Amino acid sequence: MSRLGAVARATALGVSALGAAAYLTAFRPRSQVFGSFPYAAQTAEKVVALSFDDGPNEPFTSRLLDTLDKHNVKATFFQVGRCAQRFPSSTRRVVQSGHVLGNHSYSHSFTSYLKQPRQEIEISLSQEVFYSITGFTPALYRPPWLCHWPWVLSSLRQHQLRVVSGTFAHPLEIIQPAAAKLTESAARLTRPGTILIFHDGQDARGGPREQTVAAIGPLIDRLRDRGYRFTTVDKLLGISAYAS
Ligand SMILES: [Zn+2]
Repeated sequence: MSRLGAVARATALGVSALGAAAYLTAFRPRSQVFGSFPYAAQTAEKVVALSFDDGPNEPFTSRLLDTLDKHNVKATFFQVGRCAQRFPSSTRRVVQSGHVLGNHSYSHSFTSYLKQPRQEIEISLSQEVFYSITGFTPALYRPPWLCHWPWVLSSLRQHQLRVVSGTFAHPLEIIQPAAAKLTESAARLTRPGTILIFHDGQDARGGPREQTVAAIGPLIDRLRDRGYRFTTVDKLLGISAYAS
């Protein structure tokens, strides 16, 4: 290979490595490279926010709400518009019980995030769905896979939505390890100001969530024993839950 060819090849490799690094960075829960991506509150107070993605998904969302209500804990639900259309009464119950409804896209489809205008439609359509079901327009958005490409962040700003990340309660929660393992992992990861991410659904497809539901009551007890109190994501971050 000529010297020029070697330089061109090295440059191309460098550019693709940079592209891959940028790609992966857009999915990291704590990366702030593309803009503010809050994953916790800066506080010394023992306060934690439970959040649930990918619902509503029955009967699991209702069971979860029963558990939270029984323990008098308010949580934040980042729901998928298409799932809310399937189970509108579950979405209404979230709001009516004093929990917070956040937006987690319309279809939870990966390809929608690759380009505009699909990604933009995911945001505006889901906002319309949540407003028509509850009378509230969410002000919090958690992107599917925590994908926060620059154009996602820019669309969210245009819709007056605040992006929210968090800490995955268990790296394999999606395949439902035993509830005790989920409780153990979530308790271990909790610090003052943590936003814990659980899933009461999977993408927009539903699926069994028994272990997640069973993990929550024991987790609340354990964290309360350690002196924690529970709050919603908006209150934890000091921002609005809904558009005025
Ligand atoms: Zn999701």
